Amino acid sequence: MSNETFYLTTPIYYVNATPHLGHAYTTILVDTMTRFQRRRLEPEHVYFLTGTDEHGDKIVQAAAQAGESPQAYTDRISGIFQETWKRLGLTPNQFIRTTSEPHKRAVQRFLQQIYDAGDIYFGEYGGQYCFGCERFYTEKELQDGRCPDHQTTPTFIKEQNYFFRMGKYQDWLIDHIHCHPDFIRPERFRNEVLSFLKDPLEDLCISRPRTRLEWGIPLPFDDQYVTYVWFDALINYISALGWPDGEAFRRFWPNAQHLIAKDILKPHAIYWPIMLKAAGLLPYRHLNVHGYWKIEEAKMSKSRGSVVRPLDLADKYGVEAFRYFVLREMTFGLDASFNEEALVARLNADLANDLGNLYSRVLKLIQRYYDGRISELPGEGGLVDPTRVAIAEVTAATERFAFSEALAAIWNLVSATNKYLVTNEPWKQDPGDVRTKAVLFSAAETLRAIAVLLWPFLPQTAERMFRGLGISEPITSIRIEEAFSSPQHLGPRQWRVGEVEPLFPRIEAATAKPVPVKTEPTAAQESVADLIAIEEFRRIDLRVAEVIEAAAIPGSKKLVKLRVRLQDEERTVVAGLKEHYPPESWEGKRIILVANLKPTKLMGIASQGMVLAAEDESGRIVLLTPEAPIASGAKVR
Ligand SMILES: [Zn+2]
Repeated sequence: MSNETFYLTTPIYYVNATPHLGHAYTTILVDTMTRFQRRRLEPEHVYFLTGTDEHGDKIVQAAAQAGESPQAYTDRISGIFQETWKRLGLTPNQFIRTTSEPHKRAVQRFLQQIYDAGDIYFGEYGGQYCFGCERFYTEKELQDGRCPDHQTTPTFIKEQNYFFRMGKYQDWLIDHIHCHPDFIRPERFRNEVLSFLKDPLEDLCISRPRTRLEWGIPLPFDDQYVTYVWFDALINYISALGWPDGEAFRRFWPNAQHLIAKDILKPHAIYWPIMLKAAGLLPYRHLNVHGYWKIEEAKMSKSRGSVVRPLDLADKYGVEAFRYFVLREMTFGLDASFNEEALVARLNADLANDLGNLYSRVLKLIQRYYDGRISELPGEGGLVDPTRVAIAEVTAATERFAFSEALAAIWNLVSATNKYLVTNEPWKQDPGDVRTKAVLFSAAETLRAIAVLLWPFLPQTAERMFRGLGISEPITSIRIEEAFSSPQHLGPRQWRVGEVEPLFPRIEAATAKPVPVKTEPTAAQESVADLIAIEEFRRIDLRVAEVIEAAAIPGSKKLVKLRVRLQDEERTVVAGLKEHYPPESWEGKRIILVANLKPTKLMGIASQGMVLAAEDESGRIVLLTPEAPIASGAKVR
């Protein structure tokens, strides 16, 4: 058996936000690739690492907002990540946290090693600092004087710090990238890095004074400073393997690959290989870079923009349909648009229709004709070639992260099988005819191959297909190249088809209510008990209403009776605003009304809604009105 190993990591996710689609996508890619490799190599020779990045300013701020200590806060958010991956059926070998003791020890050892080698020096630095990014920006990197990520003006700060001599290794890195054309892939990101390296590389500030930041790993050679978050975070890729002495480090590091989204290209493509070089370690093999999911044209970012929660989609459509959509829809390295309608369309067309119907049709015929038993029969080879082609294409595409192509190749085989059935029409033939049996066996055999090919992408579906076909060997014991073996190698087989359950129920567009695209609350906000979910807010029907007439209510000092119009409807509303807005001031005003409040009686008058007004500490009350003219009945949201 080959001793080849495979080690693939996700970035460790920063715990200032809870998991969004971008995090889920990266982690699903690594899960898929490591599942594929576990079928190609010895399963224990494959290692999948993910985890959380837990130090830095932003974490301290988020924890303070949540009213928690940084440790309690990071424990909680890291737990949400772990739980999310579990519910999505992802299977990392390890979940690393940068606040763990072994990681802290590794970071300190790493720092000491390059400090002793003379690659760290103490100096003063003044520059434009973005507190959101926790880093200095050069004038050139700023866009119109603003942080390119946050669009905020950075603050000029000057302080004494420790610096890593990154510039010293610039020529080495350029050479390394030239000598290893697939070091960074796809190529567009390699080119981006090479073009960045055309300018001299500045040394990297790797410390933060403890007077400004406590929540970090102290420098081993000066405890008045903590380690800059990136310098701490990147080391997780080796600390997780037990560097420097771990057996796992020796086995896996020589075949290390990272997978990242393009926003963190620079730390991974420049800082990290140079850090490794300075510490006398081999660089990783490959850095694989994917694009962004765009939702309403906004970057899927933790700092701003709209967010789709992966678990909302998985709960609604099933983990496997969600997984299929993201793997099928994004071409590796390019951006893709997230659109729930497209997800439903894929689910119906590819999963329910093409695959699901094929599966049900074949199994039902075998049930009906042969009481569920089917034996292999020689002589019918109509699907052998398409199956061999699919195996070759799926393998080649998956190796280079072209998962969308791999799935397209599997679906070509699904179509070929559907066509084969339409051509041979077994449902019109005599069940006792040897050829009818052979056709149905070929179709069942191909479904077995489809399941084997599909397993890294849709593991639960593939396992259900195996159970349905009555195949007793565990799917995980079958190697990709054995997805289709000619029957003579396997000996005579008989399967017993079980009860036929549909693989994927169709989703009717009319019943599919979109999962709301949310404006991201920070993790800190989510933890505060009296916050409400957006769904709760949406239950309140706020409308613009036009006041037609207003009258005093005899005997009441505060109340005013209003007649208001909402589009075609008229209502009576009682408001306690007479002292601030006398009856004569109301007519023609457009106000904001809570339109779905249970009616109440005030001074014997039924009030069908509530008028919104703002009140400050002095008791001054101001009516809320639309900022510009808008139709009565317009929804406020
Ligand atoms: Zn910034």
